[in-house]
Parts: sequence; C-alpha cells; structure tokens
Amino acid sequence: MSSSFFSEFLDRVRASDRILLFAHVRPDGDAVGSTRGLQKILRLTYPEKDIRVCMGGQVCEQMRFLDGTPDPAPTEEEYRDALGIVIDTATRDRIADQRYALCRELIKIDHHIPVDDYGDLSWIEEHFSSASEMIAQLRHELRDTLTIDREAASFIYTGMVTDSGRFRFRSVSGDTMRRAGRMLDQGIDTEWLYAHLYMRSAESLPFLGYAYSYIRFTENGAAYLLVSRAVQKKFALSFEEACASVSLMDSIRDSLIWLCFIECEDGSFRVRLRSRFVTVSALASCYGGGGHATASGATVQNRAEMRRLLSDADALLARYKAENTGWL
Ligand code: AMP
Repeated sequence: MSSSFFSEFLDRVRASDRILLFAHVRPDGDAVGSTRGLQKILRLTYPEKDIRVCMGGQVCEQMRFLDGTPDPAPTEEEYRDALGIVIDTATRDRIADQRYALCRELIKIDHHIPVDDYGDLSWIEEHFSSASEMIAQLRHELRDTLTIDREAASFIYTGMVTDSGRFRFRSVSGDTMRRAGRMLDQGIDTEWLYAHLYMRSAESLPFLGYAYSYIRFTENGAAYLLVSRAVQKKFALSFEEACASVSLMDSIRDSLIWLCFIECEDGSFRVRLRSRFVTVSALASCYGGGGHATASGATVQNRAEMRRLLSDADALLARYKAENTGWL
C-alpha cells in the first residue's frame, strides 16, 4: 500500500480551505458511504473547512435513511478554488457532477479496475472490496490526525456491507474484516442498519413473484431478466427497485453468469452483469461498460444488442464450463 499517498493526501487536505467530494452516477451504498464517511471524518478534524459532497442532484434511495439533505451545490467560483476528491469512480465520464473538472486539483481514490488514469494524485486498490474499505484504511493510516465518530463509521460500514454483498464476495479478506471491526468499535447499531438496508415492503412481493417466474436461461445456463418500462409501471417500481432485481438470480446452480436488463426512459437498457468464478468485466467493456471481475455494468441501445450480449455471455460461460471444474 502506498504510504507516500497518505502523507501527500494529508498535505493537500491541510492546504485546502474547501474540499469537494464526488462519486459516480447512480450513486450506490458505497458511493454514498465512502463520500459521506470521509466528509464526516474531515469535518470532525477540520471544522473550519468547507467540505461538501457533490452528487449532481442524484440520490441513492437505499441510503436515504442514513443520508441527510444534499449539500448546497457550490458556485462556479467555489469549484475553482476547491480540492476535489473523487471516490469509487473509474472513469471521468461516470463522475456524477461533471463540474468536478473545474476543481483546482484532484485526488482519485478507487477500487475498480483502472481504465482512465486521472487525478493529480491517486490511490487505486483493485483488490479492496469497496471504496468505503479504502476510507476505513485511510483513516487507520492517519489515525493520529483524523478523527472518527459513530456517524462516520456507520457510513463507511454501510458502504462496506453493500458493496461486498454483506461480506460474502471473494474480494473480502481478513483485512476487510479487521477494517470493518474498527468501524464496529465506534458503536454502530447494526440491527437498525441492516433493517433499513434489507427490509422490503409487503407491496413489493407481487413483483418478486413476477420476476422469479420470468427469469430465462441461455443455452449454457446464463440467467437473465428483462424489466421493461411496462413492468416497472405495472408494479409501480422505482428505477432503483427495478435495478435491484439482479440479485434475485444470484444463487441459481449452474448459472454462473446472470444479467438484468432494465429499460430506461429513452428506450435503452441498463445492463447489470454479475457472476461467480467467471470474469465478466471484459464482456461489459465490449459493450461500453466496465466494473469489477464479477460485478459489472453496461448499456445496450435496443433488443438486438441485448441478444448479442446474451449470446456473448452464453459463449463465455460455455468456454468457462468446458475449461474448468469445481464450479456450482
Ligand atoms: P452496477 O451493476 O451498475 O452496480 O455496476 C457494477 C459495477 O460496474 C460498479 O462497480 C460500477 O461502478 C461498474 N459499472 C457499471 N456501469 C459501468 C459503465 N458503464 N462503465 C464502467 N463501469 C461501470
């Protein structure tokens, strides 16, 4: 781990009166957890500084219970004299607030496979299970200087929980658990937190029935589900709720790859690709997307492109099954 990063990070933070934190479009638990967690740590340590999270007006429904009202958007002048810190975002075009580019200088902190090498200073850890885990480590490295409290730890811990599938994915290491443990030491109410994250309403159950009965399979076992605009309307689903249905396919034996296609307002489809054992990030990048080895995203413009992607996923899975043993 780059120890020079931490001292340089601190020098740049100390030298800045205004710090703006950014994350990716369609912010998820990790995007909110890592930015809000770092914001709280920096505010506790440097109460005189102006430190804001800039999400370009985008919110994460799943995190509403923890995330307060959005910070006021900076003026153009305020962007210009700020230190920008972009977290959890591999490429510049996916930063939620594109005015990040106005910032005087930029730090990148990310755990995705690096695609776009931006920032005046960067810290990339592909093998960390979440960007929030990186913030936990950053605080640990700088513990003699940076203050933490229960609220900051709750943000960070929530980001770690959501991005690691509740500490289930392969990216979770012993160090991940030690970092999570330090957050728990701050007195997080985990029962309250898990209840807010994972309870569902009784009204959402009919959609689950629909979704389970409409999961389809390619010849070699890739599972997929299409959530059209009509279905979203029929079940009164928010876009985020529709997108969450990818996880319904995560434990089907032999379906080592699963994909959810969610129709957007403009007729294109957001694709969420997930896998176990098999790497799908290269497949996602063939369709203008990217992400992690076993959790990637992309967009297809129409159903013909969707069929092509399914056929490529099927071929990838067939190859994997032919060349490997021991999978389930
Ligand atoms: P998602 O299914 O949107 O949660 O995405 C899974 C992972 O892939 C996340 O870490 C995203 O940041 C990343 N990802 C999603 N869409 C894209 C994209 N178009 N380009 C690059 N990375 C993406």
